[in-house]
Amino acid sequence: MCGIVGYTGSDPAVPVLLDGLERLEYRGYDSAGVAVVSPDKDLQIQKCKGRLNVLRRRLESQPPLEGTVGIGHTRWATHGEPNDVNSHPHVSQNGRIAVVHNGIIENYAEIKEFLQHKGVHFRSDTDSEVVAQLLEYCFADAVDPLDAVYAVLERLEGAYALGILCADRPDMLIAARKDAPLLLGYGDGESFIASDATAIIAHTRDVAYMADGEVAVLTRAGIQVFDEYRRPVEKEHHLIQWDVAAAEKGGYAHFMFKEIMEQPEALRQTISPRLRDGVLCFEELSLPEEKLRAFDRIYLVACGSSYHVGMVGKYNLERFLRLPVEVCLASEFRYSAPLVDQRSLVIVISQSGETLDSMAALREARRRGGYILSIVNVVGSSIARESDDVLYTWAGPEIAVATTKAYSTQLVLLTMFGLWMADKLGRADPADYAAVTAELALLPGKLETVLAATDLYQYLGSQYFNRDCIFYIGRNLDYALGLEGSLKLKEISYIHSESYAAGELKHGTISLIEPGTLVVALATYGPLFDKAVSNIVEVKSRGAQVVAVTTESRLAQMEKIADHTIPIPDTHPALQPNLGVVPLQLFAYYVALQRGCDIDKPKNLAKSVTVE
Ligand code: GLU
Repeated sequence: MCGIVGYTGSDPAVPVLLDGLERLEYRGYDSAGVAVVSPDKDLQIQKCKGRLNVLRRRLESQPPLEGTVGIGHTRWATHGEPNDVNSHPHVSQNGRIAVVHNGIIENYAEIKEFLQHKGVHFRSDTDSEVVAQLLEYCFADAVDPLDAVYAVLERLEGAYALGILCADRPDMLIAARKDAPLLLGYGDGESFIASDATAIIAHTRDVAYMADGEVAVLTRAGIQVFDEYRRPVEKEHHLIQWDVAAAEKGGYAHFMFKEIMEQPEALRQTISPRLRDGVLCFEELSLPEEKLRAFDRIYLVACGSSYHVGMVGKYNLERFLRLPVEVCLASEFRYSAPLVDQRSLVIVISQSGETLDSMAALREARRRGGYILSIVNVVGSSIARESDDVLYTWAGPEIAVATTKAYSTQLVLLTMFGLWMADKLGRADPADYAAVTAELALLPGKLETVLAATDLYQYLGSQYFNRDCIFYIGRNLDYALGLEGSLKLKEISYIHSESYAAGELKHGTISLIEPGTLVVALATYGPLFDKAVSNIVEVKSRGAQVVAVTTESRLAQMEKIADHTIPIPDTHPALQPNLGVVPLQLFAYYVALQRGCDIDKPKNLAKSVTVE
């Protein structure tokens, strides 16, 4: 959600900024802009509504914006419609300060009113413009731009990642952060800021993650960082392990397809360091044994697909651990006075580790004394940093907005963790433990088999792409799986879809099943296969067409009932959703492809949701 890039060095800034913004496109945006500053030309800005190519065309149709210091932004509008004026960068009234902002300034109305009384004229409807205007106001009393920045930050409430240029100091770029992602990139004679590392990986892998309250001053000579009290901070550097190719399409038509195909490898990366000779090991955890024994409840807190991981996790963890497990939407949890205390284990699940709702939920859980374990993909991200313990999914960069490989790795990791914990507590059934660990080793290979059947998924996509509504039904783990399948379809194809616990359908929603309605029936969960069959017969009796996903061992039975069947290899029931999700991802993909949708960047969606 929203992308920020900033550059200071000796190269022209605009190409670096545009390249960086392009790599951040996946985060979702509705408008884009750049600003550069140079000693003789002051500030120059170009910004507009629409995709980056609209901005590129505008830039090409005018004399080049000259300068080696600049900031760029892709906006995901929260305050004010997406249009040229509301696009960032925002410039102060005298045209000497330019600002890009990610987040929401919650007290913007009050600041705006204050400045309007002082005669400041606002151009945009955004909350962000107040930052530029307030900076100009504070700069009037300040000698050093940093004085003005600190004076402004003191008055801002809400979340922000900021990039600031000042015409009076054309050699520097200032950055600040609170509750929104921002990192610093250290190059050779050049420095960067970016919302995430993909934006600058082509230039440097040496990065440091800004912490809340920090302010950074970037010049060609290097980067100085200060804490909220303006004390110098020595930043810990991280070396990004993956390269540019990992963040590029590599010949695939879409990132989503590439990432679906990467799942076997991603699972290997997640599983193999934690499975040795059939034994689960989580050496990365610092969780003390006494603490582990004291937990009397587990909360799984997440948003979107990660929440669906939590749904699967609830079934699996309760079965393994015989402890109550609650799955909570982060956006609800934070305002629900949760019953978290010192005996609660709170597992926060987030691909980016920057999801604002999940972060706020984490803080609420911490305030109440919970122990925070996060499952995160991005190393060094905010959620990872604020957790007591972190389990990384090692899925590599995920670019497509609709998650696939991050979901799969979160899913397997949570299952593994649950079983490991059950074993530590002496609650794991040895036969079950042996069966799951044996199947874990086979899982990536079995997933490859599922991926090999793309023709089938493509065929089904071509048969059903023109539907207005598609139902997903399943029981137990298949119900949780259906939620994810349905979400994938909605996200990228814009087809309305409902996912129902199959036994619940008859309590209301079955009235919507008409002759020809497509029902995707999930019947991969062995213990309830017969029940799933009954529910399929129920919808077929009302004229539904059924595509059924089931295991190879039950295929023959299912072929007698369903219109189409999708077989997946059998595995331990706890791991079956890891195989079952793949046909659902690819079905959604091919449906969206047939409908001509922008698969990697679905409308209205953003990858890393950094606003509330
Ligand atoms: N709240 C700001 C706006 O609506 C920034 C949004 C963003 O993070 O892109 O302009």
